[in-house]
Amino acid sequence: MEVSFIDFTKLHHEDFRNKIKERINHIIDTNQFIEGQYNDLFESEFAQMQKSKHALLVGNGTDALEICLQISDIKHGDKVAVPAISFYASCEAVLNRFADIVFVDVHPETGLIDPESFKRVLAKHSDIKAVMPVHIYGMPANIKELENIIGDRNIAIIEDGAQASGAFYHTGPVGSSGHLTTFSFYPTKNISAFGDAGAILTNSDKMKDQIVSIRNHGRSPEGYIHIGRNSRCDHIQAAVLHLKLSEIEEGNLRRKEIAKRYFKNLKDVDLQLLPDEFLETSSWHLFPIRVKPETREKLAQFLKEKNIGHTLGFYPRSLSDENLLKHFPGESEVARKFTTETICLPMHPHLEDKEIDYVCEQIKNFY
Ligand SMILES: *Cc1c(COP(=O)(O)O)cnc(C)c1O
Repeated sequence: MEVSFIDFTKLHHEDFRNKIKERINHIIDTNQFIEGQYNDLFESEFAQMQKSKHALLVGNGTDALEICLQISDIKHGDKVAVPAISFYASCEAVLNRFADIVFVDVHPETGLIDPESFKRVLAKHSDIKAVMPVHIYGMPANIKELENIIGDRNIAIIEDGAQASGAFYHTGPVGSSGHLTTFSFYPTKNISAFGDAGAILTNSDKMKDQIVSIRNHGRSPEGYIHIGRNSRCDHIQAAVLHLKLSEIEEGNLRRKEIAKRYFKNLKDVDLQLLPDEFLETSSWHLFPIRVKPETREKLAQFLKEKNIGHTLGFYPRSLSDENLLKHFPGESEVARKFTTETICLPMHPHLEDKEIDYVCEQIKNFY
């Protein structure tokens, strides 16, 4: 049996294709190539789904982070706390603002930002201006605890929800905290475009106006009022995203079922799963397992021989060990260890039970 890591053919099934072709034809007929009705529809429905006042589409998830740093007034030389495990874009956005990174270590069981490490890092760098927690693998980071640590200090929280569309904190969906929250709709994400797109959530009317202007060259009806950029979302991408929104709830439910089946099948195997408290709350963007560092490459090779899609790439090393980032201070000891242990198994809404069982059978055979 061959089990793919992700399956675009099943994601873009016949019915979806027909509907999207109709929408694209309509866009060609009406010449509305940049912002159009589907941008408005997606923004209002996505805001509703994530329980935020506003959702604004932008060009991609990295732009979304950078724009959030800009409107949080992060400038040259300001310090921004970033978890040592994330996609590189978390750091890239800070560098593009000419700001400085301070690394925060992760929790040893989850890879999520560790509030205890944030507390220590903040004691050392009391001039930190923003922190960018990442809802890694789809699990909600502990935002409440970060808020408690920050107290009445003027430190912006910018949440990276790129992997967490449809995930929940205990109090509501990711993005409902009221902090600026970013999303990516890169083709492999839970909600995915036919190319690049991203979004920002905010409850602030003022920030909404700033984002609307910045993503469109800093324009306003009176002229150019911000240092802007071109980070508009194409109408075709918005049409795709709006159609995908109608499938996200079902898709995430299936991901949850798949996660539960993996948990059930693998519970007696000598490897670590993410804590089961996240079974109900994660968007299960990825399904990492943790194995002994000396077993990892061997297991990867074995899965390859059995035609089972997998990757060691999420994430290959702590961000603090990237050449361009090595000189930044902070903590990352746990992240260094965590990244030597993880291997991601197939996870997508169209995975069948028999495929999951095959993957688990083979892992048991390996052990
Ligand atoms: C995908 C991703 C991004 C970047 O999104 P792009 O749309 O590729 O720019 C940022 N942060 C995290 C955690 C991601 O997974």
